[in-house]
Amino acid sequence: GPWRELDATISTCRRCPRLVTWREEVAHAKRASYAGEPYWGRPVPGFGATDAGVLVVGLAPAAHGANRTGRVFTGDRSGDWLYAGLHRAGLATQPTSVHAGDGLELVGTRVAAAVRCAPPANKPTPAERDACAPFLDTELGLLAPHLRVVVALGSFGWAAALTALGRAGSAVPRPRPRFGHGAEAHLPALPGGPGPLVLLGCYHPSQQNTFTGRLTEPMLDAVLGRAAALG
Ligand code: SF4
Repeated sequence: GPWRELDATISTCRRCPRLVTWREEVAHAKRASYAGEPYWGRPVPGFGATDAGVLVVGLAPAAHGANRTGRVFTGDRSGDWLYAGLHRAGLATQPTSVHAGDGLELVGTRVAAAVRCAPPANKPTPAERDACAPFLDTELGLLAPHLRVVVALGSFGWAAALTALGRAGSAVPRPRPRFGHGAEAHLPALPGGPGPLVLLGCYHPSQQNTFTGRLTEPMLDAVLGRAAALG
């Protein structure tokens, strides 16, 4: 079906030369603590329910996280934060996300990255962002019949989500709503969608944000709880 086709197209994509080189170099060199493990070293498709009411949009795979495990936000500290939060909100069946075969399932929720390959220093270029955007457009189109809430992690995820929602047919207000933690933008329904959409902003659960206390568990829970209530 279309989901399998999308996953296959994403995981074999080689459109961005710099990211192809980087994701493969990282997978070859490995981090010492994962030396005995295979690395995925390829683009990372979305994960979770295909009839999700809630879509979480992150930035990009982490070099030794999803680029290692092949599942979005799986195998690094950011993912530990995100999936623990989704579990507390009732949107994940277990609080941990360790590897692709760990049995985790998401409840009415899907998680995807705006850019599907791990970028150096977690910073994709504008050209890489634009090259990868059609995958999020397609994913949104497939999710449209059930989608009610999009949770954007960080300003990059927020901008990517707004662009994709606009292209999927929701009339994004002008000026564009601004990102912030707890920001909430109300958007018209997508074609074929169940009703108006809500875009929620959440600080990215990066180590930089969680170590410094810029993002705390109660702050994450407030946004994901709101998403669960709306979804
Ligand atoms: Fe393809 Fe996206 Fe990876 Fe670029 S970032 S190579 S468009 S999957």
